[in-house]
Amino acid sequence: MDKLLPMLGWLDQKQDEMLEAIIELCNINSYTTNLAGIAMVKEKLVDHFESLGGDLSLIDTEPMTSIGDDGCSSKQPLGEIIHIVKHPEASKKVMLCIHMDTVYSQDDEFQICRMTEGGQLNGPGVADAKGGLIVMLYALKALERSPLTGKIGWEVIINPDEEIGSPGSESFIRSRAPRCDFGLLFEPALPGGHMVSERKGTGNFTFIVRGKSAHSGRDFSAGRNAITALARLLDEIDRLNGEPDVTFNVGRISGGGALNMVPDLAVGRVNVRVKDLEEQSGVEIDFEDLVEKYNQLDGISVEMHGRFTSPPKPSDEAAQKVQRRISECGDALGMSFEFKGTGGASDGNKFADAGLPNVDTMGPCGGNIHSSNEFLIPESLVPRAKLAALTILSCVSDA
Ligand SMILES: [Zn+2]
Repeated sequence: MDKLLPMLGWLDQKQDEMLEAIIELCNINSYTTNLAGIAMVKEKLVDHFESLGGDLSLIDTEPMTSIGDDGCSSKQPLGEIIHIVKHPEASKKVMLCIHMDTVYSQDDEFQICRMTEGGQLNGPGVADAKGGLIVMLYALKALERSPLTGKIGWEVIINPDEEIGSPGSESFIRSRAPRCDFGLLFEPALPGGHMVSERKGTGNFTFIVRGKSAHSGRDFSAGRNAITALARLLDEIDRLNGEPDVTFNVGRISGGGALNMVPDLAVGRVNVRVKDLEEQSGVEIDFEDLVEKYNQLDGISVEMHGRFTSPPKPSDEAAQKVQRRISECGDALGMSFEFKGTGGASDGNKFADAGLPNVDTMGPCGGNIHSSNEFLIPESLVPRAKLAALTILSCVSDA
């Protein structure tokens, strides 16, 4: 490890340059469905990452299918994926991945970066995940400048749709996962610079209930009320809460119109979190049973859409091996952090499920993500780039 540390010295003077690149990216809105903004950020990123060499290509995503409050499905196009492969002939290969989209829409007031009095950078996506994009870039720049370049192969995936669960990039992520030995994803670190060891799985489910409309005064008994059927179904789902590791959040409902009409359509949406695959399949069975039960009601039909898009990411033996390597590199750099579990999912869940052990919080330190108080700690940029670069370089010295 000591022989490797001098190879990282080049990064020491790079904080201002990294910060400037982050501000430039964050001042362009790249809400997942803002395709013009996503395309502009993509162009900037292509300019940055082209300097690394490697085989860069742009990959089309699959359109996202969504179900409206009218119960009908529609397709929405998403942005392109940036994919780079370098040194594919090397015996060890690492996958590096992070997203370019953010959660802030074009109408949001939060659009531009500013420095706070405490010296933090406040802005949309500064930590999640445009800071991570630049940390990843500089880690690779340091690697490519080192005398060990070419001894390890690497692959970069920058996707445009992680904030909505990567519906358009999931199949590409899964297809590339088996080609590498381990993965580093650049989501922001937890407060205090800590890292995520395991993540819950998550899925969104939509229940479309159809009944029969009728005049509420003249012919009430001929109607079949879709709203009350949905309400009972959702109440049964809410009552499944209780096991600490499985949570069901009834997040949104819609239906109905004029008050003198028995409503014939209602749509309910639920987010579910599970700790392991056993719980995941338990939930799937419960939901199928509920759908079957409510379909037996006279004049009522129920359709369920959705699935667990991010299966649980356990801290298994393969994941712990990557965690240990990163901890050793952190020790060598004088950084202190721990690995902890969290309820939130990331693309790390999908990579792990597709067989690629990974650590997904290699990005910078910051906080209050997904809020207008999102911030980045500029002093964390160089150390986190060093941590990623050293983690990769340490594999070469094992080989
Ligand atoms: Zn993120």
